[in-house]
Amino acid sequence: MSRGPLLHADADAFFASVVLRGRPQLAGLPVAVVAHVIIASANYPARARGVRSGVHTQEALRQCPELILVDVPQGEVEEAGEALLDLFRECARAVEPGSMEEAFLDVGARSTEEAVAAGREVRRRAAAELEIPVSVGVGRTKLMAKLASRAAKPDGLHVIGPDREAELRAGLPLRDVWGVGARTVERLESLGITGLDGLDAIPYETLRRLCGTAMARRLRAIREGSDDAVVRPVERRSTLSSEGSIQGYARPDWTPAELVEMCVERVCRRAERAGLLASGLTLTARPSSLESPVCVLRGGRPTATASPQVWSGVALSLLAGAEVPPLAGLRVTLTALVQADRVQDTLF
Ligand SMILES: [Mg+2]
Repeated sequence: MSRGPLLHADADAFFASVVLRGRPQLAGLPVAVVAHVIIASANYPARARGVRSGVHTQEALRQCPELILVDVPQGEVEEAGEALLDLFRECARAVEPGSMEEAFLDVGARSTEEAVAAGREVRRRAAAELEIPVSVGVGRTKLMAKLASRAAKPDGLHVIGPDREAELRAGLPLRDVWGVGARTVERLESLGITGLDGLDAIPYETLRRLCGTAMARRLRAIREGSDDAVVRPVERRSTLSSEGSIQGYARPDWTPAELVEMCVERVCRRAERAGLLASGLTLTARPSSLESPVCVLRGGRPTATASPQVWSGVALSLLAGAEVPPLAGLRVTLTALVQADRVQDTLF
């Protein structure tokens, strides 16, 4: 593996971008995507008017009365996420996905120039082939690449070179270090440490006691510049999920059974397209009351299959056999995925 710069590629306002690509009449207008009654993603015109994800739709409409609200097109979003990951894989020799719409890419770059050229190509192809704006950060380590992609948004490319890297390793606020939890930040702030350089003032042992061995090591490594710079590819998927909400903003509500069938249909279609068969299914039901716990139900079949009829039957009987409170939404996950051609081999 090279130790040249790596890329962090991250789709901008992903859910909103997926919605906008089929609807050119919405271009330039403030648009937000709603999951249940919460804003899941807002495009940049909406953000410029103060709309933030994670807030209630009513709050968002108070901020921006002309806001256009669209239900999450969950199937479209899941398919766009897969297409994006496939595109990343075509552009890189190793891809480590962070979520549905972002990943670290090892493009084999030996210099910043090569990394920038590869980053431009990722952005060009995502725009041309998927109509999704992707911002790209270039940096020596994963943290630096991630900070760079954050600085690149929206729809840009940003490089953190050696000088800027040195500045960040001294002055970066701990709150901006990805992966450091709020509790750790609070504990360190109580000692007057707010930035990475503040770590120099306390003995390693104190740091370890405050935030645990793994985090102490990571923080020290970041301060010293020996943090993670290896892209670890996920070669094959072992699970595939599809999820949805019972209630929509502008569509009729679904019954849990209807939603189960739709999610099963979607996830089986995706498995089939990827040439995968499953022998397990997990149903994760999200209750509408925050007091009720999330309910996880598991089922399986002795023979691996991607048949929506089979998995609908399994999922619906799991749902019928459990005491499930009123639901806000649910997720269907196909598990123990195997390549369809391998299964054929073992049968004959
Ligand atoms: Mg993103």
